[in-house]
Amino acid sequence: MTNQELADLIFPNITKTIEDYEQAYPARNLKEGAKVVRFAPSPTGFMHIGNMMSATINYCLAASSDGIFYLRNEDTDQARSVEGAVEFIHHILKHYHIYPQEYEYEGKIVGNYGPYIQSERIEIYHAFIKHLIAVGKAYPCFLTSDELNEIREYQQKNKKRIGIYGRYAKFRDVSNEDAAKRIKAGEKFTIRFRSEGDFNKKFIFEDLTKGKIELPENDIDVPIMKSENLLPTYHFAHVVDDHLMRTTHVVRGEEWLSSVPLHYELFSSFGFKMPKYIHTSLILKKDGDTIRKISKRKDPEALMFYYEEKGYPVVAVLDAVMTIANSNFEEWRTNNPDKPFYEFPFSPKKMSSSGALFDLDKLDNISKNYISKMKASELYEEYLKWAKEYDEHVYNLISKYKDDTIHFLNIEREVKKPRKDYENYSSIFDKIWYMFDEEWDRTLNYDFGKIADKEEILAIMEEYLEHYYQESDTEEEWFTAIKELCDKMGYASNMKEYKENPLHYKGNVADFTTVMRVVLTTSSMTPNLYDIMNILGRERMLKRLEIFKENY
Ligand code: GLU
Repeated sequence: MTNQELADLIFPNITKTIEDYEQAYPARNLKEGAKVVRFAPSPTGFMHIGNMMSATINYCLAASSDGIFYLRNEDTDQARSVEGAVEFIHHILKHYHIYPQEYEYEGKIVGNYGPYIQSERIEIYHAFIKHLIAVGKAYPCFLTSDELNEIREYQQKNKKRIGIYGRYAKFRDVSNEDAAKRIKAGEKFTIRFRSEGDFNKKFIFEDLTKGKIELPENDIDVPIMKSENLLPTYHFAHVVDDHLMRTTHVVRGEEWLSSVPLHYELFSSFGFKMPKYIHTSLILKKDGDTIRKISKRKDPEALMFYYEEKGYPVVAVLDAVMTIANSNFEEWRTNNPDKPFYEFPFSPKKMSSSGALFDLDKLDNISKNYISKMKASELYEEYLKWAKEYDEHVYNLISKYKDDTIHFLNIEREVKKPRKDYENYSSIFDKIWYMFDEEWDRTLNYDFGKIADKEEILAIMEEYLEHYYQESDTEEEWFTAIKELCDKMGYASNMKEYKENPLHYKGNVADFTTVMRVVLTTSSMTPNLYDIMNILGRERMLKRLEIFKENY
């Protein structure tokens, strides 16, 4: 029995050849140097920060070379597939404005190289597997799961390499007749690749990030088609897909690095050129004094839900991810503050090969900076959008008091050095709650400084609100009035005089305004008091003075 006859027996309905697919998916007509890249997550979990880094790097590579960025759903591991994972991938890409030029979603295929969902490409894989059987490079293997377990246990116990190779590859050399007999008798089988590698020989290749890598050749007869659902394994599927979809560069996590010799063997078995590889570093985080791999189970920030829930602006998250992807991104950003991230000329060589440290403090800084540069109305709209999704109470309040909220958010904004108060939308309310009268029923924690005596505070506030506060005052007039009262009540309005003779005074003008600030907001750290008073107006200030009287 020939190999071709065995292949026909296994795949009687596969009539297309690999040449047919070569023609159906011809080389792409792109300009010289254009990169064809893909984001190819498996829906076996929710999109995480490592996926995000792959997506952004891919997007940059395609954008900066007039190439193609496509999305491929690698769903061959159906046993581990997680409900909602695919939808979440599409949601995240949309949220971050990372738009694949080719993809398949909700029944719609965009692009000429699809289907882009692996489980829908089963016929294609079978044609390629059939070809390998016909040329003697793959074979059916009838090892049962019990036998496989036994082999693994034996290998573990005797400190042998794990896998089906050498003498463990029991069905590698059985005759086609024997194999056919078993198939006809209904025995279950997987298809294994017939490796010709030698583990004692070195395989050398150039990873675009990590440089020259030396690994042992592959000699394992890996399964390329599973018995239970006839789907290919990742190793095989990605080789076929990356070839047919004419991928030029593969960006993927470094956990795949050790599989490159196998992938090389698979590409070579068809005579295909291997794409170039960029293996991205592990994402690390600081944990106390140690640095460890970020964990999807332990670290909420590992999953992409986190950033939306916390309300980090899209651009800030993208920048934080790019900052760990390339060491010169920050410098580029400083010189190009308004460009979209994908115009950054990503260089695989400038990616740390030892690990990328993702630091939430860094993200907070990037984000604070970014939020501080937004216009108040723009910040308000984003804040509102976030609150609508994640905080109904805040949404109701800021909708009801739209003008006051914008007015407040506008304090010390659009100036040379704007305030950097907010790192994300979820942290805003803790810093602005006092602007909403409805919130004053909470337990109040007045943060007075030097002047903490109730009688004294009351005296200052009553006198000020009754005789000195004028709603129509300019900031300068407002401050003149405060200084006047300050002097009258035994405080120094002039800091120089105060410093020369501190014991002559009850305090200085800063102590004096702190009293007002704390009565009106409970906090001694707020944006400009003049603006706060302006938003509140006399009536509301008097109300707050009453609350102070009752609660302090
Ligand atoms: N589906 C693989 C994963 O999610 C992708 C690896 C690749 O991009 O080739 O790990």
